[in-house]
Amino acid sequence: MKAAVFYRPNEPLAIDDVDLADPKPQEVTVRVAAAGVCHSDLHMIDGLIPCPSPCVLGHEGAGVVEKVGEGVTYTQPGDHVILSFIPSCGQCPYCIAGRPNLCTAGNRAATRGTLLDGTTRLSKDGKPVYHLTCTACFAPYAVLPESSLVKIRQDMPLDRAALIGCGVMTGVGAVINTAKVQPGSSVAVIGCGGVGLNVVQGAALTGAAQIIAIDINDYKLELAQQFGATHALNSANEDALSAVRNLSPGGVDYAFEVIGRPETMRQAFDLIRRGGLAVVVGLAPAGAEVSLPAGVFLQEKTITGSSYGGTRPRIDMPKLVDLYLLGRLKLDELISRVYPLEGINDAFEAMRRGEVARSIVSFA
Ligand SMILES: [Zn+2]
Ligand SMILES: [Zn+2]
Repeated sequence: MKAAVFYRPNEPLAIDDVDLADPKPQEVTVRVAAAGVCHSDLHMIDGLIPCPSPCVLGHEGAGVVEKVGEGVTYTQPGDHVILSFIPSCGQCPYCIAGRPNLCTAGNRAATRGTLLDGTTRLSKDGKPVYHLTCTACFAPYAVLPESSLVKIRQDMPLDRAALIGCGVMTGVGAVINTAKVQPGSSVAVIGCGGVGLNVVQGAALTGAAQIIAIDINDYKLELAQQFGATHALNSANEDALSAVRNLSPGGVDYAFEVIGRPETMRQAFDLIRRGGLAVVVGLAPAGAEVSLPAGVFLQEKTITGSSYGGTRPRIDMPKLVDLYLLGRLKLDELISRVYPLEGINDAFEAMRRGEVARSIVSFA
């Protein structure tokens, strides 16, 4: 089958023929319906975060179960599923504590690019090809661990469902699960790309009274207002710190950093009030460090990270599906462009130029 393969940084992905073996025990083959094009893939293409090579990228997808391996009990052929990009072992302290997004074995496999047993089902000319985050969904078929699948209702459009697999869950989950934003509170969101827009809509869902969107791109700020932002600040034209202080004297209750840069992480910390909470959602380049003013720790400010929106995928993702079908979660508005697999490098170029909220690759 044709797949989008990463060979080395700073080169377009190759649309190459690769082989995909049958699922082993506790694994499932999924026919991919659609895959979202996410900034984390672009970070790997740009060499900002390490990626095994060669590797089929794509970590935001949905599809239909085609074949199940021995011992699979959760799912059967014909089930509609969202792909979760962190599989879970069900046995480590994190899994037992209900925090599968922090699963030791799942995170190790996801970054190593193998399935949970340390091997790959993808190959080319008999040599292994890695599966990004056990999903590798920039291809018409994928083999995944059973624990990477989340069953959803059959009436949910799969191209919309794909977006829940990363950007929507990461953004909405950071608000609901990590920060537990309270109704009536004030929220600042730094960075309004595909994930940031979902932080904005998560804040709107929780009933935040003031949602201040901050970006340097007016198109993204317009989108943020469609997604529920009450104020939009272009930080290329005005100082975000003083503008936020004018809107919310003393600082906001919650600030979210959704870019992945040390300066904006620091800015999130500076934007919150005494006792406020700053949440880092953005993925920083390898080796980056943040400095914080030590004198303000007495103000009881908190800064924390959020991985995959603190999600328990099989609990949270079906709820987001329900919210979409009730008309309360915006997904249609996120899809700016649809590409065939062969157009995937154009999708990354459009993302680089800041022209899109989300693009998807459709296999329909
Ligand atoms: Zn992503
Ligand atoms: Zn685990």
